Amino acid sequence: MRLACDLHIHTCASDGTDTPFMVVNKAKIAGLKAIAITDHDTVAGVAPALKAAQVFSLEVLPGIELSTEEKNKEVHILGYLINLKHKEFLAQLELFQKERKKRLVKIVDKLRSLGFSVTVARVEALAKGESVGRPHVARALMEIKAVKSVSEAFEKYLDPGRPAYVPRFKYTPVDAVRLIRLAQGIPVMAHPGLTGLDELIPDLVKEGLQGLEAVYPGYSPQMVAHYCNLCRTYKLIPTGGSDYHGPEKANEEDFLEVRDSRFEVRSLNGLDHKFAEVTVPYSTAQALKDLARAGN
Ligand code: AMP
Ligand code: FE
Ligand code: FE
Ligand code: ZN
Repeated sequence: MRLACDLHIHTCASDGTDTPFMVVNKAKIAGLKAIAITDHDTVAGVAPALKAAQVFSLEVLPGIELSTEEKNKEVHILGYLINLKHKEFLAQLELFQKERKKRLVKIVDKLRSLGFSVTVARVEALAKGESVGRPHVARALMEIKAVKSVSEAFEKYLDPGRPAYVPRFKYTPVDAVRLIRLAQGIPVMAHPGLTGLDELIPDLVKEGLQGLEAVYPGYSPQMVAHYCNLCRTYKLIPTGGSDYHGPEKANEEDFLEVRDSRFEVRSLNGLDHKFAEVTVPYSTAQALKDLARAGN
């Protein structure tokens, strides 16, 4: 058995398309020892995953991926082993969800004024979970055949500078690190190699950042080495995971085939990272647990 873990996984609680049960099942089949559930701005997938983990005798680490912005760029901060009962933390998540709903209304308004017949209700139905975002809007655009793929929807309408772009609630990486620490969690900068803002790392470390996602799909060996070196310099934990969002991208025919079934959005995500495409040794999960137990 590979004592490996995938510490970055999305479920349908945010923009992933597998249920928490399905990802735990997949982890068992893949022979993993542990996974972390890291949905965007919600922990709604964690409890069902923990329940499934008992059935499959697999370890699930509670986690989250907070969406923030700095210098007009998206910065994602992962938070592991947070106290899921922390009142202020939960109140803040509720605020994120409210803001996401308000933003969705604005995005849909813009699309409707461009002539597309998308509705808030339909996007929410496609989202299923609580953390509604642009990927769900992209799926709604695919459904009405306004675009052929999620990526096309981002490129034409939803990316910054495109006609239906609406920024998210302003939360900075520093805010996210502080919130995660407040709730006794371990903050880790997600996919720094994608974000391209390494210069933020020293200040985030001062605020309590405790890890960098040093292993990620598509990283070159040099990038992995670079982030492992930064971890040594700043005494951070190098973490890693697949950032899995669901099965591989479907083509339009697949979409039509499954459009009215219960699983209609299962294979429609734009990020086609494979499950457990990259893994880290169990000692990484152990290091996170040791830090959390020590009250960081
Ligand atoms: P939101 O949080 O609603 O702003 O949506 C951001 C999420 O959309 C990211 O975390 C990714 O999961 C996804 N995403 C961003 N850009 C793309 C893209 N070009 N294609 C597919 N998914 C994307
Ligand atoms: Fe996502
Ligand atoms: Fe991310
Ligand atoms: Zn992610």
